[in-house]
Amino acid sequence: MFKQLLHLFLPNVCAVCSRLLMEGESGFCRSCRAEFDPFALSSEGEGMLRSTIADRFGSSFSFDRGWCRYLFHKKSPLQSALHSMKYGGLFSLGTVFGRELGEMVAASGSAEGIDCVVPVPLHPLKKIERTYNQSEVIARPLAERIERPLMHRAIRRRRNTRSQTGLSAVERRVNLEGAFKAIGDVQGMHVLLVDDVVTTGATMAAAAGALLGVGAARISLAAVALAVKE
Ligand SMILES: [Zn+2]
Repeated sequence: MFKQLLHLFLPNVCAVCSRLLMEGESGFCRSCRAEFDPFALSSEGEGMLRSTIADRFGSSFSFDRGWCRYLFHKKSPLQSALHSMKYGGLFSLGTVFGRELGEMVAASGSAEGIDCVVPVPLHPLKKIERTYNQSEVIARPLAERIERPLMHRAIRRRRNTRSQTGLSAVERRVNLEGAFKAIGDVQGMHVLLVDDVVTTGATMAAAAGALLGVGAARISLAAVALAVKE
């Protein structure tokens, strides 16, 4: 609680260790950031995302391009940062991460083929509770960077699914069946779907399924972090 208040009044402190930020630092201090584990090459993150999803979904879900910025480790400074972003009210961190993802997508030269950017939605009740959707906060600067429209209402959650934490891959899939409904016009579009963390890919697959079901032509994925079993 004290930490949250501190961030409210002193937004220029590191989201992980609460030290005052120096010039040129944004969201995190240099030493906490040095503990993050970014993929050296975007192809490395994409390859790992592809094998994570192929492990769980085989050929039933395939995506076009994929971008992940960091490898997620439990009890790491990155986990603490993502947790503060999602539950601690530090939504400005989403902007920091979204800009980084936007740079990656732009640098890959594949942004041209993308038609729109769609964040994975929260259930409306959860959004009221948390006041913002972290995926939308990440997707906004990403969409701006690649100059594509943000369609933040393209999908909605039908059911307030239980938290995915602690569920197996199969349980996650069952938990999410029919959870999303596409309501935006994405006919024939190449959609870039955005979320904060990919664990089994079940959320991305369910959201992608809803978009493909209403005529989206192709789906690409972008996530701040990829969690693999350690
Ligand atoms: Zn720090």
